[in-house]
Amino acid sequence: MQVETILGEYCNVYLINSNINILVDAGASISELPQCDIQAIVLTHAHYDHLIYLVDYLTKFPKARVYMSKRAYEKHSDTAQTVANLFGATNLRDIARDRVVFVDENCKIDGLNESHSFINLFGHTDCSIGLIINDCLFCGDAVFENGYGRYDLPTGNREQTFETLDKIKNLKNIKHIYSGHGAPFDVN
Ligand SMILES: [Zn+2]
Repeated sequence: MQVETILGEYCNVYLINSNINILVDAGASISELPQCDIQAIVLTHAHYDHLIYLVDYLTKFPKARVYMSKRAYEKHSDTAQTVANLFGATNLRDIARDRVVFVDENCKIDGLNESHSFINLFGHTDCSIGLIINDCLFCGDAVFENGYGRYDLPTGNREQTFETLDKIKNLKNIKHIYSGHGAPFDVN
């Protein structure tokens, strides 16, 4: 497996090359992505800076499906819940339900031949998920190299934020953390 970091205009996007290709989050425009086909897209949480180009990705990659929590889907077109209003956006495009796979703790990506699972990382939002593949954690805005995501936005929760940080600390075998913003970093 190889991971390529794309420093998107709105958030980091990770391209995971394995037996299938996966994009994590949608904060980079299509023109910022390398040329390759994509079979799966993961949305770590329904904040505007992570989902802004998601409909473009689904158009560009017609066979791809997007993996997100049910709560993320329920709020994805709400400008307040997604904090799109903070970016001055007044209109959000709808994500077709038949392109979406709802995921929860321990769910998997169809066809991915690596040891992997989704993990709930609530706190920054009530819809935040991460993806563990081998010794890598793709965590959205749950944790950064020098901090953690804010919990004062809609559906944020301070207590859950710190529970999630403990949960991440207690994960066995994670060596590399890929956050939604800032540089990926290594842990012991
Ligand atoms: Zn966020």
